[in-house]
Amino acid sequence: MELVNNMHIHEFQEMMKRLYIQRDSKRGVTGTYNWLLDELGELGEALEGKDKEATENEFADAIAWLASLANISGIDLESATIQKYSGKCPKCQNSPCQCTF
Ligand SMILES: [Zn+2]
Repeated sequence: MELVNNMHIHEFQEMMKRLYIQRDSKRGVTGTYNWLLDELGELGEALEGKDKEATENEFADAIAWLASLANISGIDLESATIQKYSGKCPKCQNSPCQCTF
């Protein structure tokens, strides 16, 4: 087994596919989406605390479940994000964003 030190979004999504595609496919889009929502709830709770390690873990879980959901939805996260966020704000086209709050 090869340990990973850094990777692009696409590589992360491919790794998640290798690890979990069978389980994710069996659970389905709705079930996996609901898991993602649970994980985001846990992230919200962690952010209210002071435990940095716990917060890191919840961020990791949230992006892992997002990648799983993208895998079974046929979405390439890296190309989707690059298409929309290509170095400037997609609304005002500026960097940094100049949109009004
Ligand atoms: Zn903007």
